[in-house]
Amino acid sequence: MLTVYSDRHTLHHARAEPFGGTVVEPFECPQRAEYVLARVREVGLGPVTPPADHGLGPVLRVHDAGYVQFLQTVWADWTAAGFSGQVTPSVWPGRTMPFRRPSSHIEARVGYYALCGETGIVEGTWEAAYWSAQTALTALDAVLGGDRAAFALCRPPGHHAPRDQFGGYCFLNNAAIAAQAALDHGAQRVAVLDVDFHHGNGTQEIFYDRSDVLFLSLHGTPDQAYPYFMGWEDETGHGAGEGFTVNYPLPEGTPYSVWKQALERALDRIRAYAPDLLVISLGLDTYEHDPISFFRLTGDDYRDTGALLAGVDLPTLFVMEGGYAVDDLGVNTVNVLQGFETAAGDRP
Ligand SMILES: [Zn+2]
Repeated sequence: MLTVYSDRHTLHHARAEPFGGTVVEPFECPQRAEYVLARVREVGLGPVTPPADHGLGPVLRVHDAGYVQFLQTVWADWTAAGFSGQVTPSVWPGRTMPFRRPSSHIEARVGYYALCGETGIVEGTWEAAYWSAQTALTALDAVLGGDRAAFALCRPPGHHAPRDQFGGYCFLNNAAIAAQAALDHGAQRVAVLDVDFHHGNGTQEIFYDRSDVLFLSLHGTPDQAYPYFMGWEDETGHGAGEGFTVNYPLPEGTPYSVWKQALERALDRIRAYAPDLLVISLGLDTYEHDPISFFRLTGDDYRDTGALLAGVDLPTLFVMEGGYAVDDLGVNTVNVLQGFETAAGDRP
């Protein structure tokens, strides 16, 4: 299986994250992608290639142009205002202060485009996010070109980013950009299955009123888990998209036996939809030792997961999302990919 990887992800390295009343080193860190890459090479999963540049066109098919321009210029505007350190949102148009008109001050613009407050921006964030999206697009090229599957080792991740907001460590929605690009290249239907521990609120928002993308997400119940305000079972799509969003919220302590039942239901729904392409938002924070999540999956469970994903027999694009038990992230991620390849009869 081809892996696409850009070392430019290291340009995004936030220094601080508010967490439980303290400030900590961000859970989302460059070592994550480096450990996954090391494991890909260690087991000889297949070739590793840098992304090709597809330009901003495919990004703007999914994201708001004003938001993209904000990401490109926020660091310069932040430092020009006399601020230093990382860009950190601190003010929002909250529930009792609905947004009425834009403010030109950078602090207000950061709040307008911020989903939440844990995600810092540094000088190289835009470049890293841009190449993360290109990574997904390049891996998509391989699948559209006939590969059974490809792995986009994206960092920063993307699934929390809606059309015009950043947060949850995400800036550009790599999986959504790839799904839209597949449609633009002639696919009729694409399924995006999000197996990250957290609900893929960004992907859901982007495709909520559409029937050409089926979005399914298995995740910690919003009653207990980030992003808290989305991901309930009764969010099923809107208008033409009614019935094409499917959420499987699961409680604290969910073991693989229960998680797997939800996965099998999701895979049955995907089979009925009969898409041309399956995009997997691949987060490994369902792991029993993940520091910010509460499911109980083990390393071996990921091999079984990969085999189940192969069982739907579709061209499959894996897009890296979360996973914060960094020491085990490489093994767990590659277990999914190896489990897939073994079951697909496509051994490296
Ligand atoms: Zn996650």
